[in-house]
Amino acid sequence: MLENRDLSRRRLQADCDHCFGLCCVALPFAASADFAMDKNAGQPCPNLRPDFRCGVHSTLRQRGFRGCTVYDCFGAGQRVSQITFGGRDWRQAPESAKQMFDVFPAMRQLHELLWYLTEALTRPAASPIHAELGLALDETERLTSLDPDALLQLDVAAHRAKVNDLLLRTSELVREEARLRYKGPLKHPRKAGRGADLIGANLRGADLRCANLRGAYLIAADLRGADLRSADLIGADFRDADLSGADLTDCLFLSQAQLNAAKGDAGTRLPPTFERPAHWSASGKRG
Ligand code: SF4
Repeated sequence: MLENRDLSRRRLQADCDHCFGLCCVALPFAASADFAMDKNAGQPCPNLRPDFRCGVHSTLRQRGFRGCTVYDCFGAGQRVSQITFGGRDWRQAPESAKQMFDVFPAMRQLHELLWYLTEALTRPAASPIHAELGLALDETERLTSLDPDALLQLDVAAHRAKVNDLLLRTSELVREEARLRYKGPLKHPRKAGRGADLIGANLRGADLRCANLRGAYLIAADLRGADLRSADLIGADFRDADLSGADLTDCLFLSQAQLNAAKGDAGTRLPPTFERPAHWSASGKRG
């Protein structure tokens, strides 16, 4: 029953106080605009302190670690640290370090699916498939409770494909309901669509209501003043896109990491529960 499920997404937000710095150790980096150096998977970042906190947290962007500010584990870090491995960290128990680092990416994928499924279950327009979404949420929760060996055996891609089918149907139902609500024709830019290459595109003031922008490449796109209400934004790449004054209220499948990767200002309208990134401009009109 939906009313018995926890549909808040607080537990799916990163809680670095209860994580053993897993993203700072388990993942590889390649020196680039996002990372100031190369680092292999399983190798602790030199900035990671003994207490598993980042030693340069307040100056990550200035020091060339922008990639760290746009990464979101969806709460997988604290889950693996405190539940899957029972609070024993990789320094205390180096014999389990590799397994912990290998489990983390699988758990992150499961938590990301929980994030989207939870949102889907809060969408009234998706009520025709809420029962299926609920079962998928329960199954995904069950998978997150597996022990490390079972998690490493798991075919996460196959589970992801099943969930993705439900998320696609959710998107269609929500956007169709919104299209009726907005009335009048929507005037989407010609190239806007699923997986579209919109790198650097001039989309200033564009009508993108109800658009399907799943996996679209919006890197450095000018989206100032764009209307993205009820648009499906799952997996869209907003790195350096300018969302100043844009309206994202009621958009679908947004993550905080996408916002953190973009530019914006005080006039950018966000769905409730999302935070305005600290690096966004303070100017702009609030609507
Ligand atoms: S720079 Fe800080 S946040 Fe980034 S990987 Fe290193 S310790 Fe983690």
